[in-house]
Amino acid sequence: MNRFDYVRPATVAEALASGALPGSAYLAAGTNLVDLMKVGVARPERVIDISRLPGLDRIEWLPDGGVRIGALVRNADLAYDARFARAFPAVAEALLSGASAQLRNAATVGGNLMQRTRCAYFGDPAAACNRRAPGTGCDARAGDNRLHAVLGWSEACIATHPSDFCVPLVALDAVVEVEGARGAREIPLDLLHALPGTTPERETVLEPGDLIVALRLPAEAAAFRHHARYLKLRERTSYAFAVVSAAAALDIEDGTIAGARIALGGVAAKPWRARDAEALLIGERPTAELLARAADRALAEARPSGDNAFKIVLARRIVVRALTLALEGTPETMPALPASAFSATTGARHVA
Ligand code: SF4
Repeated sequence: MNRFDYVRPATVAEALASGALPGSAYLAAGTNLVDLMKVGVARPERVIDISRLPGLDRIEWLPDGGVRIGALVRNADLAYDARFARAFPAVAEALLSGASAQLRNAATVGGNLMQRTRCAYFGDPAAACNRRAPGTGCDARAGDNRLHAVLGWSEACIATHPSDFCVPLVALDAVVEVEGARGAREIPLDLLHALPGTTPERETVLEPGDLIVALRLPAEAAAFRHHARYLKLRERTSYAFAVVSAAAALDIEDGTIAGARIALGGVAAKPWRARDAEALLIGERPTAELLARAADRALAEARPSGDNAFKIVLARRIVVRALTLALEGTPETMPALPASAFSATTGARHVA
């Protein structure tokens, strides 16, 4: 690990002043950043510890029924907040699908949004990686790429975004509140993360020194609370990133789909909203054939980036299964390990 300066600001303004200096990195729980610093992938000259900034660790209910979540709220605290889980059950389910209990107790909302790809070559300073070192190439293209992207990838980078939490958030139109040199501004979460194109090193639309201070979910997102699920397929039952995942949320009125939200995880460098598939569902009466067509639409643009054509099949199936379970209704109690072998749900429904 390199030597670095350690700064602990007392206010957001102090944090921004330090964050504006070149070579700075914000530290909250450090569950991703510290790992990257240990292996030499992240080499900040200045670590700005924002973990004790006042006022960023609150869940605030807004007068219109929306919610504002401070960037320093811990993942576990949000998942186990009963009012939050009732209003936004797919988000709580996604939070409980992520990492391990210990990591969820430490990791923050802002940090979850800002976590880096888990592409093994990105995490290996000896490997060629355009995202970590622009212009060096991409060892994943000819390497172990079975878990890499099938949507939105480019010749320069085929990495995926690792967050579970972000998937239902994007489906539910979450908004990120940012403070920076240009003052306060808001960014729809769907626009926060960037697809790689020719500049995979540009992972988000944030400017240097920008600090995420909060996340908001609009009141309308709670309309989906009775029919909302997040399903995650992974290679072991716990403490693993998604091979593919899906958030599905439906608003059913008189047996007809009045509103639909679908997003996928583990398939692209950002959480992937499937708006065309949503549009196909709205105004229709739900049938197995309709849900299958929506899944086809969600994956219509998918193509393998390597040895991962199987992910397109899996992603299509998990969309069908998430929609089917959402249609059945949000469970009273979330499965301890969603989509796991220990879930009460049979495995049969994922076959379209
Ligand atoms: Fe780097 Fe992206 Fe290639 Fe992985 S897929 S090695 S992150 S350029």
